[in-house]
Amino acid sequence: MSRTAILLAAGSGSRMQGNVQDKVLEPLNGLPIFLHSAQAFLDSKVVDQLTIVYRDEEQRHALTESLQRIDLGTVTVTWALGGKERQDSVFNALRAQAENCQQVFIHDSARPLITSAAIRSIADSLNTHKAAVLAHPVVDTIKRIPKANGLQDITLEDLERDRLWAMETPQAFDFQTILKAYQHVKKNALSITDDTAAVATIGIQTTIVPNDSPNIKITTAGDLKFAEFLCA
Ligand code: C5P
Repeated sequence: MSRTAILLAAGSGSRMQGNVQDKVLEPLNGLPIFLHSAQAFLDSKVVDQLTIVYRDEEQRHALTESLQRIDLGTVTVTWALGGKERQDSVFNALRAQAENCQQVFIHDSARPLITSAAIRSIADSLNTHKAAVLAHPVVDTIKRIPKANGLQDITLEDLERDRLWAMETPQAFDFQTILKAYQHVKKNALSITDDTAAVATIGIQTTIVPNDSPNIKITTAGDLKFAEFLCA
């Protein structure tokens, strides 16, 4: 059985506001952000392949060079070109898998603090479920606003906080299930921001695997500072 970690690195990093060239290549604790996730998957020993989703040839070159810094052991590396949106990047990576692929772990490489223990927990869950996600309960009070851009004199919609969970990555799936889900998303031109949403469109339920170690997504320059602080 073949198990693959799909490491997404093809984002534009536009929310770093020009502070860095490529966020996944920025150093964190002396290693490029991207390598932290790759190392966590290697340490977890749950995959035999990494599929790295890259933005362009220049980035692929830089990612290849950075990989020299870690010991891949027997784990093989394949590459998939990213697409315009995250969902396009994931679909490209799924279509690049060999027929013997049985499980995939889809991970935003912008989440460098992922631990090998958390990866092993989600891998265990995948032994008995077709879809699993790392997540944590929301502690903030979250309110929904009527329109994305209107902030003044609006009616705030209350949500039941004890039913809110923040989705993380990796999100892990039986390969045929997630492939079918993304084919459905593509065919129906649906818009999604994570992979559990893809399987939901074909009626597949997801198992939440609680993660209590910080697994933040580096989105802004401030997040990078926070991650440095957490690593110290
Ligand atoms: O943009 P967002 O923060 O949702 O990106 C999450 C992850 O998806 C990042 O690791 C980013 O590199 C990746 N991504 C991608 N292809 C895109 C957009 C995002 O691989 N088109």
